[in-house]
Amino acid sequence: MDSTILTHYLLTALQASFTFTIAVLLIEFERSLYHALCHWSDWLYGFHRYHHEMFGTSYETKDRETELKSLLYYDFPEGFSTVLFAGALLAIAYGLHAPTGMLVGLLGGFIYTFKDIVIRSLKLLDVEWAFQQDPLHLPPELPLMPPARWSIQWTNHVRHHDHDESAYFSGRYPMLDTLLGTSVSLNNKRFAVMGDMGNFQVPVEQAVQNAGAMMLHGAPSVVMSNLANVDVLIVSALSPDTDLFECYKAMQHFFGSVQSIRDIALKEVWLVLPEDAYSLVPVSIRQLQQRVLSNLVTLTRAEVPCIVRTVMLPVGQSQESSDKLVADLCQSVRRDVRTIVPGRPLAGLWLGLREMGLRLYWRYRARNVDVPSLQNALR
Ligand SMILES: [Zn+2]
Ligand SMILES: [Zn+2]
Repeated sequence: MDSTILTHYLLTALQASFTFTIAVLLIEFERSLYHALCHWSDWLYGFHRYHHEMFGTSYETKDRETELKSLLYYDFPEGFSTVLFAGALLAIAYGLHAPTGMLVGLLGGFIYTFKDIVIRSLKLLDVEWAFQQDPLHLPPELPLMPPARWSIQWTNHVRHHDHDESAYFSGRYPMLDTLLGTSVSLNNKRFAVMGDMGNFQVPVEQAVQNAGAMMLHGAPSVVMSNLANVDVLIVSALSPDTDLFECYKAMQHFFGSVQSIRDIALKEVWLVLPEDAYSLVPVSIRQLQQRVLSNLVTLTRAEVPCIVRTVMLPVGQSQESSDKLVADLCQSVRRDVRTIVPGRPLAGLWLGLREMGLRLYWRYRARNVDVPSLQNALR
């Protein structure tokens, strides 16, 4: 075959697969949007409520009659909305004389939307295989992982059913929730702070209250003996007097309090470090130790039983700018950002990439990290 023809076919195939990927993401975005609309409109919720009502106290008990109503009034309309959406994308591209590769990719997206229609039809007929294709609504498979950041897992979705119906709308990929700030709801969560938050203490308490959550108060020893009743533990290492080893120990204790499925889905630790812990050249032992602490957290993040966020805050801010930074922090949490530099999204992105790089390095190059000696470096 002529090499220019071969190149042409390869480029078309590349264009088709790229378009298909984008089409699937757009389709899943539309699906999540349909779900969100069902919660925003009372009329649509009248149809969607069966999806919520079909389960008893857990996914193990399910009312078949309500399930059939859910399939007819919510699952099928939602599935057909994706078919219409993908069909419209294809028709528009065809009308605009889009290149062949693009049309093939969009046709792939259109076919993709029929998968759910087939699965839902088999669910109507009570075919067990079809239910297995929807792991978000089956009893959980152990061991459970804490909610993931880039795809919707069982622990991500169970929060929509059991924690807050006005959040966690996304079905497969989290784009819509990230955009709306509904990836994480703080509603009804119980917060506690370990360590000195300085000027940030008051705005954090205010923000927690405004979000419908509550702040548990008490001496550190009281908080530590009550961790089973804490959903979000904020560990602050902002003050230079904070014992970093105690911070590390407090986090470890908190992980020990993650016992139930609910805990794995909802509990979080926020480690708050001063921004200068990440100055390009650390100039003090303290800064080095802060970095060791943050690296230890990065190192163990994949193994701990709940979500961990690292937050960098500048010390010595006015009350006004502290208020702004805390508002920004809460917005980032609602978008499920795990490494947060409030007010400086690019710095947050850079630190997030740095953490990802470190994790990869540890995974492939330095498997035997001496964690105990790192811990000792904090003393
Ligand atoms: Zn559901
Ligand atoms: Zn819902």
